[in-house]
Amino acid sequence: MSRSEALFARAQHRIPGGVNSPVRAFKGVGGTPIFFHKAQGAYIYDEDEQRYVDYVGSWGPMIIGHSHPKVLDAIRTQMDLGLSFGAPTEVEITMAEKVCELVPSMEMVRMVNSGTEATMSAIRLARGFTGRDKIVKFEGCYHGHSDSLLVKAGSGALTLGVPNSPGVPADLAKHTITLQYNDIDEVKQCFQEVGNDIACIIVEPVAGNMNCIPPVEGFLETLREVCDSSGALLIFDEVMTGFRVALGGAQEKYGITPDLTTLGKVIGAGMPVGAFGGKREVMEHISPLGPVYQAGTLSGNPIAMVAGLAALDIISEPEFHTELDRKAKYLVDGLLKAAERVGIPFHAVNAGGMFGFFFTESNAITSFKEMMSCDIERFKLFFHFMLEEGVYLAPAAYEAGFISQAHTKDDIDFTLMAAERSFKKIQS
Ligand code: PLP
Repeated sequence: MSRSEALFARAQHRIPGGVNSPVRAFKGVGGTPIFFHKAQGAYIYDEDEQRYVDYVGSWGPMIIGHSHPKVLDAIRTQMDLGLSFGAPTEVEITMAEKVCELVPSMEMVRMVNSGTEATMSAIRLARGFTGRDKIVKFEGCYHGHSDSLLVKAGSGALTLGVPNSPGVPADLAKHTITLQYNDIDEVKQCFQEVGNDIACIIVEPVAGNMNCIPPVEGFLETLREVCDSSGALLIFDEVMTGFRVALGGAQEKYGITPDLTTLGKVIGAGMPVGAFGGKREVMEHISPLGPVYQAGTLSGNPIAMVAGLAALDIISEPEFHTELDRKAKYLVDGLLKAAERVGIPFHAVNAGGMFGFFFTESNAITSFKEMMSCDIERFKLFFHFMLEEGVYLAPAAYEAGFISQAHTKDDIDFTLMAAERSFKKIQS
């Protein structure tokens, strides 16, 4: 029995499902989750000292690689000064200034402790600011697990969402409208019907929680237009795309300015951090300045702030994102070629440092429905073959992958050779 197997058996006695977040349980791929105990650069090491090239990067934060010395130094220095004060600190101002400099649509920002908190708070702010209850989101986008966002489309009814999880009140879910990502006509129709009741649209500007699906031309523009004409706020959930697809996030890459932006992952460099911010006139509605309540014991925690700032300094260096994009393209092109050589129907795509791949005959996946029609069984086989080869991919077919600054050409070549062998095993 491996240490991972032994630990998983032990974990299940005291932790529901043996994990503290469901995707870690390997339900999407089968088998026993790997327990890790250290990570360095592009590599992550399991409890049996097996090394893997890591494309999960703790689900996104590790854009400069694991255990970056500058991040660790910043944490060590702050550690000696105290872990948390629950009171204002200068480093929070530095962080706010840095975020507003990198993401110019954010004129003011509030720090929180996770992406979930960021989106939950941004939704409350949008509702408080507009005085409206309804919100629009898109099927296949994930915005964390707050009640208003754990909602799916009701059958046929455009306006009545239903809970996606027991425990979410139907009375709340009915205020969430779920539309199809990249469906411009549906967005327009929805706003024609109920636009004046809608507080906000929340969207992943590049969808990264249904594999990796970039926006089609005109989609983000349409969201901006319908928000402008109806008085709803446009929220870009850049928890995944922020500081990744471009220094200024997807809003910089696609040239669309949202009213509010939510951030997470990269901004904490692996510490629990999120943030939301945007136009000054909207953010001034947040307490204590305004009436919309929002708070947090550990928000703006100094250890988390110095870690995040160290990472933001590194990703602000010239060419950081060009290089990340180049590496992701090299990986994606290599995967496509390997699949073609072996004769596996396969599609792959990247948006800056995030990428996705699909076992499909199609060469363009633009919607949740198309994504769901891909061959999940092939993905599961591929995942396990790659694991045996020493490559750690997200243990679910619906997740984007991430490249970090630490991934070298050798690491990617190693991955591509492993992929070609894995494709062959699938074929046989
Ligand atoms: N928004 C997006 C786009 C995400 O990808 C995630 C998490 O994966 C979240 C929000 C929730 O963030 P967290 O898991 O930090 O609560």
